[in-house]
Parts: sequence; structure tokens; C-alpha cells
Amino acid sequence: MLPPKATAWQALPGSECLRQLGVGEAGLSEAAAADRLASAGPNRLALPPGPGRWRILLDQFSNVMLVLLLAVAAVSAALALLDHAVPKDAIAILLIVALTALLGYLQESQALLALRSLLNLAQPLARVRRDGLWQRLPSDQLVPGDLIRLESGDRVPADARLLESNELGLQEAALTGEAELVSKRPEPPLAAGTPLLERSNCLFLGSEVGRGRGLAVVTATGMATVLGGIATLIQTVRPEPTPLQKRLADLSGQLVTWALVLVAAVVLGGWLLGGSPLALLELALSTAVAIVPEGLPAVITVSLAIGTRRMVQRAALIRHLPAVEALGAITVICTDKTGTLTQNRQVVVELRCGTQALNLTASGFRIRELVPPEGPGTGIAQGPLDLLLQAGALCNDAEPGPRGWTGDPTEVALMEAAATGGLDGSDLRAKHRRTAEIPFRAERQRMAVWVSDPEASLAAPLGPASFRSPTAEDSQLLIVKGAPEVILHDCGRWLDGAGARSLTPAQQDWWLAEARGLASAGLRVLAFAYSPDHPGPDAGLGDLVLLGLMAQRDPPRPEVPAAVARCHGAGIRPVMVTGDHPLTAHAISAAIGLAEPGSPMVQGPELEGLDDAALEAVVRRTSLFARVLPEQKLRIVRALQATGAVVAMTGDGVNDAPALRQAHIGVAMGISGSDVSREAADVVLLDDNFASIVNAVEEGRQVYANIRRFVRFILGCNLGELITIGSAPLLGLALTPLQILWINLVTDGLPALALALGPPGEDLMQQPPIDPGESIFARGLGSAILRIGLVFGALVVALMLVASRLGRPWQTMAFTTLCMAQLGHALSAGSDRPLWRTPPLSNPWLLGAVLATAALQLTLLYVAPMARFLGVTALSAIDLAACAGVSLAFVGYLELEKWLAQVLRHAGHSPHPSTGA
Ligand code: ADP
Ligand code: MG
Repeated sequence: MLPPKATAWQALPGSECLRQLGVGEAGLSEAAAADRLASAGPNRLALPPGPGRWRILLDQFSNVMLVLLLAVAAVSAALALLDHAVPKDAIAILLIVALTALLGYLQESQALLALRSLLNLAQPLARVRRDGLWQRLPSDQLVPGDLIRLESGDRVPADARLLESNELGLQEAALTGEAELVSKRPEPPLAAGTPLLERSNCLFLGSEVGRGRGLAVVTATGMATVLGGIATLIQTVRPEPTPLQKRLADLSGQLVTWALVLVAAVVLGGWLLGGSPLALLELALSTAVAIVPEGLPAVITVSLAIGTRRMVQRAALIRHLPAVEALGAITVICTDKTGTLTQNRQVVVELRCGTQALNLTASGFRIRELVPPEGPGTGIAQGPLDLLLQAGALCNDAEPGPRGWTGDPTEVALMEAAATGGLDGSDLRAKHRRTAEIPFRAERQRMAVWVSDPEASLAAPLGPASFRSPTAEDSQLLIVKGAPEVILHDCGRWLDGAGARSLTPAQQDWWLAEARGLASAGLRVLAFAYSPDHPGPDAGLGDLVLLGLMAQRDPPRPEVPAAVARCHGAGIRPVMVTGDHPLTAHAISAAIGLAEPGSPMVQGPELEGLDDAALEAVVRRTSLFARVLPEQKLRIVRALQATGAVVAMTGDGVNDAPALRQAHIGVAMGISGSDVSREAADVVLLDDNFASIVNAVEEGRQVYANIRRFVRFILGCNLGELITIGSAPLLGLALTPLQILWINLVTDGLPALALALGPPGEDLMQQPPIDPGESIFARGLGSAILRIGLVFGALVVALMLVASRLGRPWQTMAFTTLCMAQLGHALSAGSDRPLWRTPPLSNPWLLGAVLATAALQLTLLYVAPMARFLGVTALSAIDLAACAGVSLAFVGYLELEKWLAQVLRHAGHSPHPSTGA
């Protein structure tokens, strides 16, 4: 049974907490955890409610729109009542309004639901010990009593009592608003009444580990946590309006204003000419409705939601909606090397140990003898190689998991190398317990551990001089691994077959040259050194003995070369920003075609000397940065932004967070990234893969393209309708308000929504990035809309004139043509390819919407009561054919427009500006 919720964990010693929570050193059993999960519920905070149903429903009519429609209904009702008739038009209008609102509502609430469920996907993984094994579990699986491990960059996944810690510092801003790190340590137990924020042995959900690490036992989960209790502090997840949404809202506003001006002019003019003001008002208001693109808000939400869904299917999880658009505008992608461009499936393939070069193959080691300067070594025995492998296994945070070693792939590779050498990592660690450590930090490029060496077995190769009495209890051995330049800097001696000998400057250069040789083959090189009888972390590292080098192969991901080529084709410059060795970076860059061989490369230390202006000049022409520290990433992003670039930046560590926030699109790693980096990011890559960024860019461009398709369609239609409706009275002809509303809300509403679901265009990635400042009407869209609207209007007006001359039912014919032509327009706008080369099912939604609307229209015409209601008559076959003919002519014109646009585009940028790279 679990202890009561109000237990004062801070007042109990750690061991007592464990006892009360019913958990031992091996963690909970899976069975116990499952029981507790059933009773405590998932470790999740209740999401604050999103926008309510009514809010979404109301949003279907940008408010002015709703007012306009209700005004039409009211005027129409008034007219009917004055005539002592049933206000059937008003009722019909309200029905149409309800129908379109319902459609938009359904689409949009679906879209919002999808967006919210994506947020749940973003939950962090916790390091949990169950049944004696460490594993990573989604944090909502945590239960009270779980043992968890925390490292810098983690988000504390539940409330917990600290059991062990090392330099642990937490950022508790979620609770206190204070960004300062708070030190935490397990001892001593505190008074039961200690205020929450002074409980230095307790950890709280929502805080972040800023440095160090710790082991803790979960005391409360979900809404039972301190954060769960402070509901007001929980962020709301309401999607923020994106820049495009704001711009389009402005556009709607302008159109509404124009519509109202028009209404005033028509009513005034008509009244002066002696018309009935009320009837004029009704007509004018209906016309105003025809101008306003009522589907716009719903279409944007739906496009964005579809875009985010497609992105997540392609492994890019969007955390901030505006990122969907920004992705389409990206001009530079700054990317890590390890894990993003490469597979992060590290394997140790070469070692340097004493005077030998060793190849590691599946069957074991192949040895080659080397000749160092200033005296050849004596052939090496197994001892020093063992020592190197042991150092790799001990100075290592990989953990045994259900399927082999887990953790940082760099370190897993070292465990596997040790196993190939016949060493058992777990045994080794049990024999040499870790007493202290300095964790790996990208800034330091090294990691150090102090381990006990009870029989001085590790120190033995150094010879009798440093051979301590085997009984010495406190004999501590320091083992360091890291970047070769960094490690060699601290080494005064090195090991060869004869024991430790001093490392001359020439030999130091020789070792560095060996490291360079390995790096230039694209390998990741680590150097290892140690020091026996070390006093501990407070004394500094001191003088180390070099043990050797291990070089790991991490092949590029197979998809990456193609993704890099797509970037170049799409006018996007990929830039590698890595902490690794410059030669390794060069080799990988060459393998994936990122930069030309011999193109400039800049190293972190060189950046230090540059001021902002000089850095700007550098980032303009450099696509390779090596030995870069996390804080330098921030400067690189800023400099790129100063050159006008739209920058995406990847990052995985805690210290990458500022750069991720600064970039237009911060990209974090879903598998290997820290929680903090994920929270700072706009996009999380579920597969850590560079190619997924490029796919997301394509989807981002698609969202924008779909919105432009929609705008092209809806505004083209509206303009044509306006011309028809506006010119009809001048010719002594007119459509009824009800017909106008029908065309506007139903026949162009349904297909318009379906346009947002359109398939990806094919040549999106052969075009330059979208200029984020460009108007939605840019690149010829505005003038195309004008031309299309004019042609559309002219065709329908001509038909109407001819029909009335010939004594045909001109009103019904105009009405039908407006509808049919719009359906054709929707089909044509749904694809960039010529209509006859578009597979009919490329957008099944669109086809469905068009067919459904056509069926609805025919019902209207040929089902007598409906026809009477709308004031239309059944058309003869010839009349219907005439309508179809005019509609076809319009579609023909649209295809001509498309063809012209295609020709102009290809003429406009060929040869392509960005393929030269
Ligand atoms: P990358 O850009 O390849 O991810 P990192 O910042 O992770 O580079 O690493 C920078 C350098 O730090 C590596 O080239 C390596 O020399 C060293 N290094 C990386 N991981 C570790 C580790 N776990 N322990 C010690 N040194 C490491
Ligand atoms: Mg790394």
C-alpha cells in the first residue's frame, strides 16, 4: 500500500522514503508499477480546455460576416412580412448559414483536436529503473515509488525525493519564476514544515536539471504534484495566430470594408433612382456576402492542421504552429553532424595503443606496428590494450538495458569494443566502483571519473614506482576521455609495452597526427588517459598518462545525401555545425555532398576572435563549422539572421536551448535530445534525421501553396460573382439574394475547404524559398485573380444576355453556370498540373466535394419544390448544355493561365540559381 499523500518526504532520510514507498534498489517490479498506474492514474497534467465549441462555431463567420448574413435574413424577413407572406427566404438563408457553419465547424474542431493530440506526443521520456534495469519510458507511465535518474537537460518528470546527487542544480522557474539554479542534495532530512521552495532534498515536476545529475524516488505524479496543484501556472495550449493568419485576417477586414462601402453605394444609388430601399438593401447585403471570403479562417486552420499531421507522419513534430509557415521560408539549415547527418550507430573500428595500430573487426583485433619519433617502442603486450578498453568501459555512462547497452551511442560503442576484447563491463564496474565524476559537457569536450582500484590492477602497468599497497582502501584512479587535443594537452607520459614513458613534444605531435589521420577518414576520435592515486575532483586533473585513442565509425544516414541535394535544389543552404574534429566534419561533408571539397571551414576557437560584422562575412560563405561550443551556435544563428537568412538550427543539449530559441525554427532531437532542448524547439524530429527537416520544409511550402490555391479560387470566384450580380441590374436582369447566397456559401464553400486538403505539389522543392515578407498575392497571384474574375464574370454575363435575348430562362441559367463554372474552377485550382494530366483521385476530398455539390445543384433544379423555393426552373437539355459549355470554356481559360504561369516560372529561374552549389 502506498503511504498517504501528505507524507513529509523532506523530513525522512532517503532509506526511509524508499521503505515507505515500497521500493528497493532494483526499482519497482513491472507488475507493481502496473498496479500503481491503475490506482494513481497516468502521470499527466490535465490539459487546460482549448477553444470552446461555441468559440469555434462563431469563428466560422469572421464576426462581420455573421452580422452581414443575419442582416440579409432580417431584411428579407421584413420584406416578406410587409407582404404578409411567409418569410421563406429568411428561413432558407438561416438554413444555408447553419449548413456552412456546421461544415466549417466540423472541419475546424477536427483540426484543433488533431493539433492538441500532437502536443501529447511531445511528452518527454524518463529514465526509470524497473526490475533492476534502467529504461526510458514515456513520463506518463511513472508511478510513486519509481526510481528515476536525472541528468542535465532533463525535465523533472514528477515530484520526487532525491537519493543521490552530483553537482545537481535545478531551474525551478515553472514554480518560482526564478531562472537561477537551485542546488539540491539528498541530505540532510529537513524539518517537516520547511516551505516548499526551500526543500533542497526534493524535486518538483516541471523544473529542469541545469547541471549535474541525481537519483531520486518518485513521490507524487500527475495532478497530485505541486505543479498539478497550481493550475494557474500551467501554460495554455491555445494555438497562437501565425503571421499568415494575421495577414489574411487583415485581408478579410479590408474586403469587408469594401463590401460595406458597396452596400452603401448601391442602396443610395438605387434609392435615388427610385428603387425600394429595403429590397435594394437585401440585394446589396447579399452582394457584400459574395465579396467576403467566408471560408478563410477555417481553411487556414485546416491547412495548418493537415500540414502538422503530414509533418508528424514524416517524423517532424510541430510544437508551435507558426513554425509550419516558417518552415516553408527557410533559407539556411544549420545542423549537427552526429546523429542528424549520421546514423549515430557508432562502432569502434580503429585503436591506437602504445606503438600499435589496431583494427577492430567482428573477429577481433588486427595489429600493425608503428614507429613513433624518438625511439621505437618495444612490441606491446595485451596489458595496455586491455587498459585502454577498460578505461573506455569505466569512464562511461552507458547502462545495461533489456537489449544490450543503452545510452550515448559513443559510449555504447566503447562497451561493445570492450566486449570484443573479452572484457565484461558489468563485472568491471562492480570491481571498480565510481567515487566521483565530472560529467561530459560539450564545452569541456571531455569526461572524467574517479574509480576505486582495490588491487591496483589498473595502476600496475605503470610499474613498481606507482604500485601502491594493495590494501590501500582509498586508492582512487582517475580516468579521462575526450577530444584528443584536449586530453593530450594534459598528458605528460604515455604507455607503451615497456611501461609509462615521458611524452616528448615530438611524440605529442605524432599522437595528434595519428588522431588527425583517423579523423580525416571520417571517424570520431576519442583519447583516453588516466592517473593512479589521484586525490579527487577538487585537486584538478593534474598530469595524466595517455592510454591511447579509439576511433569510431558513424556512417552517414542513407537518406541524407539525397536530402542535401534537395536542399540545394530548393535554394536552401545546409550548414554543418559540429563539436567534432574538423577533419571528421570534412570527411562526412564530402560523403554527403554538403559542401564542395576544399570549401572553407571555420573552427570554434577562430570564431572567438571575430566581431559581429566579421562573423557575418564568415557565415555568408562558410558551410562547415567544427569544434563549435554550444554558446557559439547562438552567435552563428544571429550572424546568419543579420544577413537576412531564415534559419533553422538543430540542437540536442541543454546549452543549445538559447540557439534553438533564437533561430526562426529551432529543431530538437526526439530520441537523443534533452528535454530542455525539446522544450525550446519549434520542431522535434522523432527520428533525429536531417532528411526529416527537409521533408518538413516541403510540407511547410505545401501548406502555403494550398492556402494560395484557396485564395486564388475563392477570390477569383467572388470577383466573377460580383461582376455578374453587379452588372445584371444594369441589363435589367437580376439574381435573387437567396440564389446569390446559395452560390456563395454552398457551391463554392464545400470545394474550397477541400482545396486545403490538396496533395503535395511536385516541384515545390525546385523552387526558391518563400519570402516571409511577401504578400499572399505575390508572384502573379493578384493579377491572375483579377484576370480570372473578369473572364468568369464576362462569360456569365454574356450567357445571361444571349439567353434573355433568346427568351431562355436566363436567371436559372446564370445561376447554374455560376455553380458549374466554380466547380470546374475548384478542380482546376486543385492541381498545378494540367487538368487532363491530374489523376482524378489525387485529392479525393475535392472530387467528392465537387460531385456532391453538383448533385445538390441538380436536385435544386429538377426537384420541383426545391426549385420553386429557390425561384429557379428545370432547364431543358439544351439550356443545361449551354451552361456546361460556358463553364467548360472558363475551365479552358483557367488551364491556359496555369500553362502560362508554368512557362513563365521556368523561364524566370532557369538556370536555377541554387543548383550551382
Ligand atoms: P557533435 O557535434 O558531433 O555532436 P559533441 O559536441 O557531442 O559533437 O562532441 C564534441 C567532442 O567531444 C567530440 O568530438 C568528442 O571528442 C568529445 N566527446 C563526445 N562525446 C563524449 C563523451 N561521451 N565523453 C567524452 N568526450 C566526448
Ligand atoms: Mg553530440
